[in-house]
Amino acid sequence: MCPFADSHRKQPPGLADQSDALQRTILATVPDALIVIDEDGTIRMFSETAARMFGYSDQEAVGQNVKILMPNPDRDRHDSYMQHYMETGEAHIIGIGRVTNARRRDGSTFPIELAIGEALTEHGRLFTGFIRDLTEVQRAERRLNDLQAELSHISRVSAMGSLASALAHELNQPLTAITSYAEGARSLLGDDGTPAADHIEMVREALAEASVQALRAGQIVRRLREFISRGDSEKRLERLRRLVTEASALALTGTGTGSLDFNIRLDQSADLVLVDRIQIQQVLLNLIRNAVEAMQRSNRQILEIRSRRSGRDMVEVLVADSGPGLEPEIAAVLFQPFNTSKEKGMGLGLSISRTIVEAHGGRIWAEPSEFGGTAFHFTLPLAEEPGDV
Ligand code: ADP
Repeated sequence: MCPFADSHRKQPPGLADQSDALQRTILATVPDALIVIDEDGTIRMFSETAARMFGYSDQEAVGQNVKILMPNPDRDRHDSYMQHYMETGEAHIIGIGRVTNARRRDGSTFPIELAIGEALTEHGRLFTGFIRDLTEVQRAERRLNDLQAELSHISRVSAMGSLASALAHELNQPLTAITSYAEGARSLLGDDGTPAADHIEMVREALAEASVQALRAGQIVRRLREFISRGDSEKRLERLRRLVTEASALALTGTGTGSLDFNIRLDQSADLVLVDRIQIQQVLLNLIRNAVEAMQRSNRQILEIRSRRSGRDMVEVLVADSGPGLEPEIAAVLFQPFNTSKEKGMGLGLSISRTIVEAHGGRIWAEPSEFGGTAFHFTLPLAEEPGDV
């Protein structure tokens, strides 16, 4: 016999029973938690998802005030929010929904999206709250942001890489010309240094040509620096703290800095700057990588990034290390391009950094650091904090 035959004839089970069961399944399945409270803010219903999200069981939560699920300042203000609504009917959240923070049983807080509805029932006024945990969403967004930041760095860095090889190629031509003019001039001078009179004029011409080519080489380098500093500069209001934390995370990734003692000490009152984020992070990246490379053979590896207000409208950033300090011959030409003590170095990092900092109206210089190594300092223009007069 058909198992359903009977049910056709009989009355279906009570609608209330059915909808209760249905409701429970729905509530257990939807990713959102449901909480029902009454006019006093007392929890009347607490779904299974809510129990998982907040760490209270259904029995523990029902009967308590909903405030237990909120961190301050909402926790202390909730009674007055509700009272205000009862008295004025003015809703700040009902029917609107918003993103806010919630509090788990263990006191930890997490971001949520909250949608509140209202129902007038025979038992009085009830409020329903649907809550979505945004922890994962925010984590995914943050990862995406990190990735984007990293990508723009990588593309900028690789653009610099290909630019540098194009530059090396372009420079090769004037440099070869300079070499042959110089060689020519030397042989025209003769071994005994007494050239024939007609040769003197040729030597003069060769030297004049050599200096034209040297100037050309200089222009090529200048063009590169201008491109890097002004190319597509986008100055915006940025928080120094963010620039420093992101750049240092990026710079220290994969450098095997297990024994590094790394500290960031920033002056909170000098945090808002008007800069091109990628460019200033490029400067920080160069300085941090140089510091880490310099300390490779040091017993003590200390890296500290500090900031402090400099005058009325600048902030000074310092990247200090405990490496061996600058080599004297490098110190004299530190910010000039193509000076490097590294086997695979290009000697462009500091010169690019100087161009960027100066294009922002700042200065960059190096001093011995208190940790026995080098401290690079640079200044940036501060922006007015909102609310400042
Ligand atoms: P690169 O890193 O390609 O050599 P840079 O312009 O960034 O180019 O640096 C130029 C040189 O300055 C380096 O080769 C190194 O000799 C010196 N230098 C930079 N930073 C430091 C530092 N923190 N400690 C010691 N020497 C440094």
